[in-house]
Amino acid sequence: MAVEMSAQEEVSGEIMVNQVMAAQREPGTTGEMRVIDEESLDPEFMRLVEVFSGNEHINACIQCGTCSGSCAFSYKMQHTPRKLMAMIRAGMREEVLESDTFWYCTSCYYCSVRCPRGINLTEVMYALRHLTVGKRKNHEAAAFYDCFNSVLRSYGRLYESGLLVRLALKTDPMSLVAYGPLGVKMFLKGKLNLLPERVRALDDIRKLYDLVGELEEETV
Ligand code: SF4
Ligand code: SF4
Repeated sequence: MAVEMSAQEEVSGEIMVNQVMAAQREPGTTGEMRVIDEESLDPEFMRLVEVFSGNEHINACIQCGTCSGSCAFSYKMQHTPRKLMAMIRAGMREEVLESDTFWYCTSCYYCSVRCPRGINLTEVMYALRHLTVGKRKNHEAAAFYDCFNSVLRSYGRLYESGLLVRLALKTDPMSLVAYGPLGVKMFLKGKLNLLPERVRALDDIRKLYDLVGELEEETV
């Protein structure tokens, strides 16, 4: 049955289709486009990301790709920053939140200062991390983030050996065998501490972590 649409609905529908197509495209690729079920799109998702990231005009993105070209880690990311912006605009909530892109972001702000439309992508990456707290997928980058935080919570400062062991146990226990000889070499050269050092104000740091954890649970 044909569905009648108002002129406004036709325009917004066309914009949605264009955004989905932009979200599917990667520069230099000519592969087939995947069909996306419109029912799976969340039209409120872009606004949610805007609120969480403090951006007011994500829709102003012109898909120039400056962000992806500026990002030192875009080659590692499942979706480049440019593509992620198109996916957010299209309302591809699940795919965006399952992406590993924002876990690789090092918050260098290079994309944000270079974006010709003044979009603060770094805060978008923070917002997406925040939105996925509690339902993190099994990404290596997300695992690193978790282990890093757990080491800081335990000792108040970085403890490399502990971080490596926790990360290996969480992602690939066999890597302990593979990297063992390297660890021994680093230890012999004084580059790796076997025992952790704790900061004096550890209780205060743990209280901060607890507070942030409660805030995250309240807002997710
Ligand atoms: S640099 Fe800005 S305008 Fe260009 S693709 Fe990235 S977010 Fe969009
Ligand atoms: S802030 Fe994040 S996404 Fe932007 S250039 Fe730096 S690492 Fe890449």
